[in-house]
Amino acid sequence: MTAVLTPTRTPLSALVAPTLQTIPEAVAANVRQVRAATSSTVMAVVKADGYGHGAVTVARAAVDAGAEWLGVTEVAEAVALREAGLSVPILSWLNPAGADAVRAAAQRIDIAVGSVEELRQLVADAEEPVRVHLHLDTGMARGGCAVDDWAELLRVARRGAAAGRLEVVGVMGHLPRADEADPAANAAAVLRMRQGRDAVLRAGFGPLLVHLAATAGALTDPSTHFGMVRIGAGLVGIDPSETVALAGASRFTASVVHSAGVPAGTAVGYGGTCVLPRATHLGLVGVGYADGIPRQLSAEAGVEIGGRRYPIVGRVSMDQIVVDTGEERYPRGTAVTLFGPEGGAVPSIQDWARWAGTIPHTIVTGIGPRVQRSIA
Ligand SMILES: *Cc1c(COP(=O)(O)O)cnc(C)c1O
Repeated sequence: MTAVLTPTRTPLSALVAPTLQTIPEAVAANVRQVRAATSSTVMAVVKADGYGHGAVTVARAAVDAGAEWLGVTEVAEAVALREAGLSVPILSWLNPAGADAVRAAAQRIDIAVGSVEELRQLVADAEEPVRVHLHLDTGMARGGCAVDDWAELLRVARRGAAAGRLEVVGVMGHLPRADEADPAANAAAVLRMRQGRDAVLRAGFGPLLVHLAATAGALTDPSTHFGMVRIGAGLVGIDPSETVALAGASRFTASVVHSAGVPAGTAVGYGGTCVLPRATHLGLVGVGYADGIPRQLSAEAGVEIGGRRYPIVGRVSMDQIVVDTGEERYPRGTAVTLFGPEGGAVPSIQDWARWAGTIPHTIVTGIGPRVQRSIA
């Protein structure tokens, strides 16, 4: 008798495609936590696609929770927010190819300017008055106008204002060392900020919105708050000072693509760098470094399956990782959580940063384009 083998095919729908889910309620909770730490206006910084969480999703959640401004690097990002219906003030502070002055004025997008050349260009290009924030280097040597050039920047600004090409509405700085959670580390920057602001007032501008602090300064040092704080990392659950517990705002899930039992002595992955000391089960998960899984990982790195943490074994490939599930063999389609806010067996973005020797910012901004996006 010949057995008729009926091919059993797992329907594709049983597989959960790799997905990054954004959790707007966590963003809102984080905004509320920042608002409890300051009486200043809160700007939600949603550059780099909202730190990988979706700029529009994060912006809407933050504004609904009381953020009054939005911040981005480029004018094009600000225009996308306007097109999504966000009507609060938006500041753009880094335009590598030059700010589009006409578009900025038309869409009510404020531009931060940190050099005399940039300001001259803006004045030359503007047709309607552009709202400008003068950006002072408060001690980082990474963008912002040098203290020595501040007076010249103010002269150019005065001429631009007189010609109806710009309106100075703000003064901006940035803290180089706020993540140290040590007010003494910020004192020099705060002093420079005050002196810079006073010079702008003496030049006849005002009222001015003054802003210096990002997440770490907002959470740890009220002397840095001035009129507004600019919160990016904090929105998505990252406190660079590691002093405040914020809510993780994303969950990265995938599923087991294939699993099998293997004998002791099995070498796993490229280069056979991991040789299994005992018989075990391996699960293949279809995400790799092209999806943002760091290739350099400590041996501690793992994922959650079925409420338990299992280690990643062997090298991370471009499209896949292998997980050692020990006694358990998880069938194709079983859900895998790479990171999420739950705690316990579910790794956090802070865990991933530790395993990869980096900061959580690079984990969330590094998730690749083929990972589906969804909203919780
Ligand atoms: C990215 C950025 C911020 C936000 O910083 P976080 O530490 O992520 O809150 C604020 N200001 C400027 C100028 C930035 O570039």
